[in-house]
Amino acid sequence: MGIPSIMPTTVINHSKEMGALTNFVPDKKYPNYMRHHELLNLLTDVAEEYECFKHIVYNREVIGVKRTADYEETGRWNVTVKNTETGEITEDVFDAVWVGVGHITYPKMPEYPGMDKFQGTIMHTHSLKRVDKFRDKKVLIIGIGCSGLDAAAEISNVSSQVYLSTRNGAWVLPRVGPYGLPFDYAMLRRFVTVMQAVMGVKFASWYLETFQINKKFNHNLYNLRPSYHALAKDPAINDLLPAKLITGSVVIRKDVKCFTEKGVIFENETQVTEVDAVVMATGYRWQFPFLEEGTVSTKEGRINLYKCVFPPHLKHPTLAIIGFILPFGPGFPLGEMQCRWAAQLLSGHCKLPSQEVMMEDIKKRHEENLKRYAPSNKLTVRVDYIQYLDEIATEIGCKPNLWKLLFTDPTLFAALAFGPSLPYQYRLEGPHKWDGARNAILTAHERVRHPLSGEYKKRVELLRKCLAVWPAESYWQIG
Ligand SMILES: Cc1cc2nc3c(=O)[nH]c(=O)nc-3n(C[C@H](O)[C@H](O)[C@H](O)COP(=O)(O)OP(=O)(O)OC[C@H]3O[C@@H](n4cnc5c(N)ncnc54)[C@H](O)[C@@H]3O)c2cc1C
Repeated sequence: MGIPSIMPTTVINHSKEMGALTNFVPDKKYPNYMRHHELLNLLTDVAEEYECFKHIVYNREVIGVKRTADYEETGRWNVTVKNTETGEITEDVFDAVWVGVGHITYPKMPEYPGMDKFQGTIMHTHSLKRVDKFRDKKVLIIGIGCSGLDAAAEISNVSSQVYLSTRNGAWVLPRVGPYGLPFDYAMLRRFVTVMQAVMGVKFASWYLETFQINKKFNHNLYNLRPSYHALAKDPAINDLLPAKLITGSVVIRKDVKCFTEKGVIFENETQVTEVDAVVMATGYRWQFPFLEEGTVSTKEGRINLYKCVFPPHLKHPTLAIIGFILPFGPGFPLGEMQCRWAAQLLSGHCKLPSQEVMMEDIKKRHEENLKRYAPSNKLTVRVDYIQYLDEIATEIGCKPNLWKLLFTDPTLFAALAFGPSLPYQYRLEGPHKWDGARNAILTAHERVRHPLSGEYKKRVELLRKCLAVWPAESYWQIG
């Protein structure tokens, strides 16, 4: 069991409004993309508000979860826990188990020919906390996901050279989107989803690549263009990479062919490129070593979880896998929605369908994902932000009824249809609806704007009222 690292400069990849919880509005003082200590403060605010801390027991490692002898009737689980301070092992029976071990717990270390001869250091981004040790060194980073890009940008501030090795390239999305708005806040909108459904994913991808991504920096020019389209994988997010590439402090290289004592040889090269250190940004293995064998099954490359949460073969909905998804957008609201669903099932307010229906749904999702996404062993759990939230919200009855709002509350309808698809909308109706949801949606832009430029200037406010430019002003909210 490991705890992933963050660096002093780590900044969250999703904006504060799009990644908010459905009933907790982040304070307007927070920047749109929070640094890690600000995110910690926000999560602490949430935990204090809902009095979570008193329910948490720390320093415990779950080492075994299996069905009780009377599971068929009760749905209960035997859980074996190790106290990581004293080593004491205890067993207890739980009515339900939600597994939230994250998918960045077990680092994946690839092996290359000659790696054992290499005299420099090799590490994984999982344990990368500080970059001082790379001062004036030549560093190779293998992998071009979010972690690899963060590592490259950060290490290149002190190193003499960073090489960034990639097999396929990647689409690199910025945090700063159109008109300087947070990228996800500008793009994750219901009308965009409708356009994507009408135009098809490939056309939508082409639009995104041509008019958003390549306009920032042309991925062909920088030798980064991957073989798959932009909506075929969760994106790599980084704003600093283009500047690092254009100044040469980071250079792109092909896959590593082999290691030597002093460095590596890249594919299509014969010369050794000398490096002092290698950082593997090669991702993580997904596993649940403590779960009874066969609880989460994989078949024909498919991970058998109903809507990425429930093993379909279990008789009771008392075991949920939370956060086991790769979303195109912020992960937090999706994890929260999964928890709400699991809670509604436990309290008997909704039901899972039959095993056959669940298996059909899993197969259908997998087949659709096969058509859309780049090949990967995590294909089954790739989801779209709005579509997935709507899907789970439908299960518990908290998906907003846009048709009704069109006639009863056109302002809110317009905000939901054309504005950023904010998590608060899933508290407008259904279980645990929240009276503050409407206001939270309609005031989001003030909170986006506040840390950038403070309060509205009177002159602009007057102009806004006079022009009432719609929908550009109201829904792209460029004022
Ligand atoms: C540098 C970095 C930046 C990231 N940026 C973003 C971002 O901007 N947006 C985003 O959505 N995601 C981001 N992520 C991914 C992010 O970690 C997840 O979205 C989020 O933390 C998932 O929360 P989680 O609770 O599912 O898992 P985690 O936060 O990984 O928590 C899992 C916990 O379970 C514990 N655990 C594991 N096994 C056991 C066991 N057997 N017994 C007891 N405890 C166990 C782990 O120690 C850990 O504390 C980032 C990750 C990293 C490393």
